[in-house]
Amino acid sequence: MIIDLRSDTVTKPTKEMLEAMMQAKVGDDVYAEDETVNALESKVAKLFGKQKAVFFPSGTMANQTAIKLHTNPGDQVICDKYAHIYNYEGGGASFNSGVSCNLLDGHRGMFTAQQVEEAINPPDFYHSPLTRLVALENTTNKGGGACWDFKEILKIRAVCDTHHLGLHLDGARLWNALAETKETPQDYGRIFDTISVCLSKGLGCPVGSILVGDADIMKNAIRIRKVFGGGMRQIGYLAAAGLYALDNNRERLVEDHKKAKELAGVLKDLPQVSNVEKVDTNIVIFSLKNEEEERKFKSKLNTKNVQISAMGKGKLRLVTHLDYTNEQHDYLLRVLRTM
Ligand SMILES: *Cc1c(COP(=O)(O)O)cnc(C)c1O
Repeated sequence: MIIDLRSDTVTKPTKEMLEAMMQAKVGDDVYAEDETVNALESKVAKLFGKQKAVFFPSGTMANQTAIKLHTNPGDQVICDKYAHIYNYEGGGASFNSGVSCNLLDGHRGMFTAQQVEEAINPPDFYHSPLTRLVALENTTNKGGGACWDFKEILKIRAVCDTHHLGLHLDGARLWNALAETKETPQDYGRIFDTISVCLSKGLGCPVGSILVGDADIMKNAIRIRKVFGGGMRQIGYLAAAGLYALDNNRERLVEDHKKAKELAGVLKDLPQVSNVEKVDTNIVIFSLKNEEEERKFKSKLNTKNVQISAMGKGKLRLVTHLDYTNEQHDYLLRVLRTM
């Protein structure tokens, strides 16, 4: 059996989730007639205390729609140098919305309100791009699953209010942050204008993301989704997986976090490992002494049927998830101790 810790996106739907999917009542969602999609959208809107939620095929499309809703071509978005919207969405911010990113040099993908303040271009100085949007990510992907300090987010909101900027949250793994910090979706709904969340990461759905916001900002969300090619038909089957996951797979996320911390604990003691980054949630990023050691470590794990990701420059990453069982965990802890 292969233990796949490359990402939390590798999970396969369980029998119970598949049963929930098979029983879904469906209709044509382009006509807003799929009652399971409608149920999922209103559940998530209510969860965040927002007026509207829209189902998307991917987190990328949800984020790209949010950027489009907040900006006009030529505008600028402030985000971290590690941001998924900048690094891993195929250049979509410039392709779809014609905007540039002003990258902040944050810590593990997180930055301060002061850094935001300093990055805002004066709106009457017409030589520079007009700053329009600030985008955060929680947890941070490239930052190793780090959770934001909620007090700093509140300060960033205040800066956005002063300068009339929109505030978007890429919450692909917000569920992990919520499980760890005990903040609520409503806490986030009150602060952010738009929030994207993934159902296909820690929650274990085969597909699906949701964008939430109030009616004014979300007015054109369905139009933009259509333009991006994301208008879908009888997708209640997929929405049913989302409803099932929200009811059954949120509380257990802390188990993934516990396993990640235990793996980090063993990695720290290995002589060939030079650094293990702090583990807040389900992602462990660690460094080997050099690229030669990195290659050796990864291929040794492969011979033991364990797959992890290389991040370049001697860094490796492993991500715990729903399909990583207690049995696999005990086996991997044993394997790591003998490396
Ligand atoms: C996975 C992820 C997304 C969305 O990815 P898709 O593969 O398009 O669903 C967005 N932001 C972050 C931080 C992610 O980790």
